[in-house]
Amino acid sequence: MNIPITIPFVDLNLQHQPIKNQLQQAIQAVLEQGDFVLGKTLSDFEAAFAVASGTKYGIGVASGTDAIALGLQACNIGAGDEVILPANTFVATLIGVLRTGAKPILVDCDRHTALIDLEAAAKAITSKTKAIIPVHLYGQMVSPKQLLDLADTYKILIFEDAAQAHLAEREGYRAGSVGIAAAFSFYPSKNLGAFGDGGILLTRDQEVAEKMVRLRNYGASRKYFHTEIGTNSRLDTIQAAVLQQKLPYLQNWNRDRLNVAKNYDAELAPFATKGIIPIQNHSDEGHVYHLYVIKVCESCAVERCVIQEQLTAMGIQTGIHYPIPCHLQPGFSNLGYQKGDFPQAEMLANKILSLPMYPGLSNSKTQKITDALAQILKVNSPDESLLFA
Ligand SMILES: *Cc1c(COP(=O)(O)O)cnc(C)c1O
Repeated sequence: MNIPITIPFVDLNLQHQPIKNQLQQAIQAVLEQGDFVLGKTLSDFEAAFAVASGTKYGIGVASGTDAIALGLQACNIGAGDEVILPANTFVATLIGVLRTGAKPILVDCDRHTALIDLEAAAKAITSKTKAIIPVHLYGQMVSPKQLLDLADTYKILIFEDAAQAHLAEREGYRAGSVGIAAAFSFYPSKNLGAFGDGGILLTRDQEVAEKMVRLRNYGASRKYFHTEIGTNSRLDTIQAAVLQQKLPYLQNWNRDRLNVAKNYDAELAPFATKGIIPIQNHSDEGHVYHLYVIKVCESCAVERCVIQEQLTAMGIQTGIHYPIPCHLQPGFSNLGYQKGDFPQAEMLANKILSLPMYPGLSNSKTQKITDALAQILKVNSPDESLLFA
């Protein structure tokens, strides 16, 4: 039986419909100009996004994964270097490191925020450590102050994975302005999404920017003159045109996401005693809530998989970001990690559940979702049903 979806996990139509005409006109303009690769609209967008993020240079590439892999290379990170990153991130962070030839060093995360544990990171630093990749997971930045302290103490680089954190803020810093460079993704469902794949590297360092410009374009420093082994990874002009049109709305969309999160926070407060706890926000209004994630704790009478199944049965889509931490993915078994190496990351993978989150998700819909959750908990734990009566 096909259950109709009453509340989708994301709804991109809601953001595209109101600006449909301007999006179509921007795409049409590129068709007429014909500058499909490395066109003017690309450089305009690159500059605009860099400025909006509080930094200097933007270099558009084909994906967030390429922004990480080529960006690390542009920072001269490669074979012989160690790079520290969290075990609970999307695998693209790890893939990016592996593509450079550097050795990834995974570390655990904080159980409350799901962000990289910077104490664990400090302990993992060796004489070979070249950089740390803080992943601004779910839209929340890793503390810039603590990162800068760490980088300063140990003389290592900060390379931000900001794929989920466009325009996020914390302690007066914007995502993308903390480290030597930062990678963003424009995958359609990210806070700023293209009509297909895309990504960008931001940096305030001119040399990194210049090397990145070569790396994305076959390693060419000028036409048909190749100073290094680059690749073909450019953000299409058409995608840049779409992103350029959407950028002015991003701050409002992010604010909308924050309001949705506040609705959830308020509605879910009574669920704490039932073992349903949201991932903590330590960055106040600077969290851009790419995802709204709850933990279904040990004390919850209903298992996560049952909650997810029953929400699905009620037409409410949810997700798990991510169900298997990087170190337990079969494709990376040769890194030598084992079950038990990163207990917090493993605990989160088993307990987290992402609720629907997108700009325009109404209060009545979040209410419907939390009502459904209450009903599931009530039906499945009759002794305590009075709590929700
Ligand atoms: C989406 C994402 C990426 C990869 O970006 P793509 O554009 O899909 O290649 C990397 N890191 C994180 C944390 C992401 O969420």
